[in-house]
Amino acid sequence: MKRFTFLLFTVFFSFQALAQKQEQQKPKLVVGIVVDQMRYDYLTRFWDRFEENGFKKLINEGYNFKNNHFNYVPTYTGPGHASIHTGTSPMNHGIIGNGWYDKFTEQEVYCAGDESVEPLGTDSNAGKMSPHRMKSTTVADQNRLHTQMRGKTIGISIKDRGSVLPAGHTANAAYWFRGKDEGNWISSTYYMEELPQWVKKFNASDKVESYLKTWNTLHDSESYKESGSDINTFEGGFTGKKEASFPYDLKSLSEENGGYDIISNTAYGNDITLDFALAAIDAEELGADEDTDFLTLSFSSTDKVGHNFGVNSKEVEDTYLRLDQNIAALLEHLDNEVGKGNYTIFLTSDHGGVNVPAYLDSVNIPAGYFDNGDFEEAVKDYASKEFGEDNLIASYSSNQLFFNYEALEKAGIDRSEFQEKLAHHILQMDQIDKVYTRDQLSGAGYIGNAGTAIQNGFNQKRSGDVVVVLDPATLTYSRTGSSHGSGFNYDTHVPLIFYGNGVQRGSTTQRTEIVDIAPTVSALLGIAFPNAATGKPLYMMLDTEISE
Ligand code: ZN
Ligand code: ZN
Repeated sequence: MKRFTFLLFTVFFSFQALAQKQEQQKPKLVVGIVVDQMRYDYLTRFWDRFEENGFKKLINEGYNFKNNHFNYVPTYTGPGHASIHTGTSPMNHGIIGNGWYDKFTEQEVYCAGDESVEPLGTDSNAGKMSPHRMKSTTVADQNRLHTQMRGKTIGISIKDRGSVLPAGHTANAAYWFRGKDEGNWISSTYYMEELPQWVKKFNASDKVESYLKTWNTLHDSESYKESGSDINTFEGGFTGKKEASFPYDLKSLSEENGGYDIISNTAYGNDITLDFALAAIDAEELGADEDTDFLTLSFSSTDKVGHNFGVNSKEVEDTYLRLDQNIAALLEHLDNEVGKGNYTIFLTSDHGGVNVPAYLDSVNIPAGYFDNGDFEEAVKDYASKEFGEDNLIASYSSNQLFFNYEALEKAGIDRSEFQEKLAHHILQMDQIDKVYTRDQLSGAGYIGNAGTAIQNGFNQKRSGDVVVVLDPATLTYSRTGSSHGSGFNYDTHVPLIFYGNGVQRGSTTQRTEIVDIAPTVSALLGIAFPNAATGKPLYMMLDTEISE
């Protein structure tokens, strides 16, 4: 009898421990942070200058995946944000570029553009956005379904695609920034009838305007040892200022540089994003009840600064030291408002970025520039000479040639033969590393080589017919600033840090992939995976062990 009571007692307490643990394991809020164009080595390069409560806190108290990669090409913002949150690659979610040639309507389309919705908070087309081109669900969508739509989703980013795609199809709201002479956070009727009062109030305040001030380095610029000299030939800069060097008087430069858009192009763009995100957490009461909410937050300005000044610039270094402070402020706000232990954060990036090719070339690393226009012309020239017909190629977009199927059929040209001949011809050209055809990519699966990444980025329905891979560090871009888009490590290797509720402390150098993030969040929440997810939950960091 005694023994039985003891057993009951034990069972009771085990269940209670289990119940408590499970309750404890479910975060009230998930904050998915994407830092646009953040290379993994920014964490190590700027580590000594980070303060204790930003990136260092996330890493020291969370789980750091040091070898996390994109598993597809092209590594652009639209596909990146979609892949992080859907747990799959363009092969399945369908966002094959920021924009692409749509063979069905025979025109270029934008990944987040939607003519069927109306702008909110602006009269411009900048508001006509929705996630309708993304074919699969995001993890936030699955959370909405799981909670009978009680758990909220809010998306925030300066870039529309950085806001709309992560938040998914069922988001309560997605907000993005309209610069020019407006300087407001905007949305579309996809989400709501009109902007909520708190957004109108935020827009009416002088918060955004207050950043039209001088951008100088956070610390003495001489102490910025992890970047090149401030004056060099590898940086773009702003119209109306001769040298791309600190300080930048944003107010006087704004007129010639897109009005309020100039804020987005500096470290202050992350400040206006954070200010708005904190206002959203409060006004929308994110994390206030038991149903998990989602905040998808993307910092776009890191990308804009990278494009303008390049990976090795003092401007990039300063932007990350300031972003470190933004992260610290976000953590403090979440601790105060949602409560320590009640939220989970993941931080990653939508792609990396390459050092300015002109700089790499100056230190003898193979690099270069490639002219898309010349290439397209040369290929079209070859096609018409070889096959005696013009118009066989409809478009060249995102390193893909799209054929004109109608013209091919009319001329009686076999599609496979056309692919083969073009591919062989293109491979003989300078600066071309590899060429893949539709037949190859739709056929057997590639495993573990460069072809895998091309295949993961290839959507049978939407992609083109011949895919071209350029040499390493070869950009179709201006001779100043950095860019991205390839399957090389500088573009694929990005941070992945998990922190907070349900996350163990630790780190790994085992390879993980960007498509693993959403399934990991699903596993942590105990909800269904996004419907086309192909990644695997990263169990090593999940704090799921249940013990008495
Ligand atoms: Zn990006
Ligand atoms: Zn970019």
